[in-house]
Amino acid sequence: MAEVRFFKNYIDGVWVESSSGERQSVINPSTESVIAEVPKCSREDVKAAVDSARDAFDKGKWPRMPPSERSLIIFKLASLVESEMDSLAELESMNQGKTIKQSRDADFPFSVDNLRFYAGAARSLSGLAGQEYLSTGTSFIRREPVGVVGQITPWNYPWMMAIWKAGPALATGNVVILKPASVTPLTTIRFAELCEKSGIPKGAVNIITGPGELIGNELVSSPHVDMISLTGDTATGKKIMEHGASTLKKLHLELGGKAPFIVFDDADLEAAARGAAAAGYVNGGQDCTQASRFYVQDKVYSSFVKLLVDETRKVRLGNPLDRDTDMGPLVSSIHRAKVEDYAVLGSEEGAKLETGGSRPNSFKKGFYFEPTVFSGVEQDMRIAREEIFGPVLPVLKFSDIDEVIEKSNDTVYGLHSSVWTSDIRRAMKLSSRLRFGAVQVNDHLPVTSEMPHGGFKQSGFGKDMSVFSLEDYTQIKHVYIDITGEKRKAWHYTTYGDPS
Ligand code: NAD
Repeated sequence: MAEVRFFKNYIDGVWVESSSGERQSVINPSTESVIAEVPKCSREDVKAAVDSARDAFDKGKWPRMPPSERSLIIFKLASLVESEMDSLAELESMNQGKTIKQSRDADFPFSVDNLRFYAGAARSLSGLAGQEYLSTGTSFIRREPVGVVGQITPWNYPWMMAIWKAGPALATGNVVILKPASVTPLTTIRFAELCEKSGIPKGAVNIITGPGELIGNELVSSPHVDMISLTGDTATGKKIMEHGASTLKKLHLELGGKAPFIVFDDADLEAAARGAAAAGYVNGGQDCTQASRFYVQDKVYSSFVKLLVDETRKVRLGNPLDRDTDMGPLVSSIHRAKVEDYAVLGSEEGAKLETGGSRPNSFKKGFYFEPTVFSGVEQDMRIAREEIFGPVLPVLKFSDIDEVIEKSNDTVYGLHSSVWTSDIRRAMKLSSRLRFGAVQVNDHLPVTSEMPHGGFKQSGFGKDMSVFSLEDYTQIKHVYIDITGEKRKAWHYTTYGDPS
């Protein structure tokens, strides 16, 4: 029997159970056993978290600290994360199913860099020059925190999404209520422990766990919450817009994707096939920027499919905690069933299954699914249009540049894309014509703290990382100071009286 760990929530600087005492179980997707229990919060608990955050914002130290002081605390938080990376990465892999290679060597070190970037960059936010835009007064811009921010994260990158949200929000003086996805709450709870140790004052960070819809709705509709930031499904983003309408909530939405991966006949085909497997099976395909539609120019189509299938067969499924595992299980049995349905649908729609397509026989337990490639995929097939969010790669054919631009843009999503070519003019044309928040040339996925991540169209709005995320978590205020000292200002006559 696996050891079951008990976690509490962090509200107003205190570690608490849910007010009802109810808990919910957390499962390890590679063993299917319960590894933890966390509080199952109710509306009452959300209210307590909102009250705490409101108080911390309206009366507390955090929003009023000079940026240099907040920065030092966030630098300390980053160092705490760095020193605990081994245990945090193991917990993340056990809970989410992602490989330890990814969590220990990518997600966690990157999150430390993200925190250090936010801590530094928030000290030098920009705005218009303060000066006399009217000869009678001086104007300047204040950039201020938005306030209480409800932050709702998905299950695919539980830790990294918490950092991408809490990092810029805290660095700019907001206070946050973090709600992790129900299936992957564990590292987010540990984040609160590290916030506490770093010296972030009580109430500035609150963590609540429980049913997504119930907690989400309560946060979104609360008049005491100033902003909601969600990373999740496009459908969830739409529900949040509806529920947020009554309080005209400021929103920051990072939603779904269906990234095109475009291979021209002058590309280095081996590099493209390796890149396709790496960006297609990243995190088990459970990645919003995953390469998930492969457009390959007709002359090299068959060669590319063959190379991609060869690369796919090299992907080693296994226990996520083993260093030689390339792909762990999918996050849950419900999600695997969804991916499996798409694999069945691909054949039903008339695509050719090249490899994979089923649960592997070699695992008695765990929500594993084989890396899968379909060729002969057409633009109108659902596997080419809908977000599968798993290791199922549809490969389509195109003839010329205008056709591939049109097909790539023919989607409700607009998060990420890549172009594989040795022709700089083609690369430049696509970088301007593709309607996605990122276009990458001869690679697909790299992210950096200094550059924005976020969508066009129904992939949402608002940016993670970069100075643009810091701007999203602030609002600007115009301050105007009269410098004439006159009782009767020159403009007054437009309201009453005559010009003087
Ligand atoms: P999801 O939308 O089901 O859940 C996301 C979060 O929202 C969870 O915490 C969930 O509990 C909560 N939630 C569910 N219903 C809610 C409601 N009615 N009101 C408020 N909150 C609610 O998404 P998921 O399945 O956890 O994650 C996968 C999705 O996330 C994919 O669509 C993926 O593309 C997207 N994603 C996007 C990005 C990005 O940066 N654009 C990054 C990662 C994941």
